[in-house]
Amino acid sequence: MTKVDEAIESIQAETAPDPVSRSVSYSQYTLWSTCPHQWKLKYVDGFREESNINLIFGTAVHDTVQHWLKLYYGDSAIQAKAFDMHEMLKERMLVLAKDKLIEKGLTTKEELMEYYLDGCNILDHMRAQVKTWFPHAGYQLIGVEVPLLKELSNNITFKGFIDVVVYHKSAKTLYIYDFKTSGRGWSDYQKKDAAKTDQLLLYKMFYSELFGMPLDSIKIEFIILKRKVSQNPEYVVKHVAGFEPAHGKPSLKKARERFDKFLTETFNVDGTVRLNNLHPTPSDKNCKFCPFNNDATKCQFSVNLKSGRKITKAK
Ligand code: SF4
Repeated sequence: MTKVDEAIESIQAETAPDPVSRSVSYSQYTLWSTCPHQWKLKYVDGFREESNINLIFGTAVHDTVQHWLKLYYGDSAIQAKAFDMHEMLKERMLVLAKDKLIEKGLTTKEELMEYYLDGCNILDHMRAQVKTWFPHAGYQLIGVEVPLLKELSNNITFKGFIDVVVYHKSAKTLYIYDFKTSGRGWSDYQKKDAAKTDQLLLYKMFYSELFGMPLDSIKIEFIILKRKVSQNPEYVVKHVAGFEPAHGKPSLKKARERFDKFLTETFNVDGTVRLNNLHPTPSDKNCKFCPFNNDATKCQFSVNLKSGRKITKAK
């Protein structure tokens, strides 16, 4: 048995241990990168924002595609073919939206219907082109929502869930995929944004360290699920697109350095939070989507976007 085969066996045998230390997720890291004070409000003070249609839609699409991929890679091709993805999407959207949006008046029937129809287009495209993204022959599904728990320094555990992990036995290559639902896809600017792409680079590194899988045997790819596409008939309509960020050793090293900076600037060596080191970083870009941008009790730099109040620079 080769080293890679052994790694695959240990991945499959892995069960998620109970994290006893403080855990951090990738979304915590990206939030801290935007504004350390916003990270504190959410993860230390416990202020949670309301859900929204994009979050609900993203979760419902993830659940549907992941469930269908389990059938697709399973024993029954007939079951996978017969599975009604539209129906599952509708059910998941309604269940998730009921308490969080519908009963709070945070969405409308029209908005839900628009997102549902967009989701159906994504699912139809995924089904029609599945072999482009997820070839079947020789591939084995390791899992969906695969837990990833990695102990780090400062008594911190990294906690993530990988959307899809697939293994090609003869090529001895592991594929890590992350789905991203998006309005119109990722622009070049977004593809160069380390705050987005570092996620899969970190997953690759942690997977390699946890299971002894050589870095060269792990490939990563974002599968971008676009709600809207160009209606120009000259373009081929694509609701699904892949993006493989650079993930050679230099890129991995830089991603690790950025993530380590988050750990050292946010936590003391005993894992407690460095409260006096979590400063607001106000800017139009950073504050635009902040749930506290209209609440001066939580952030002195909060801006009322509706009335166009300007952000005051931190002293
Ligand atoms: S309003 Fe701006 S500065 Fe204040 S917490 Fe939000 S992102 Fe940070």
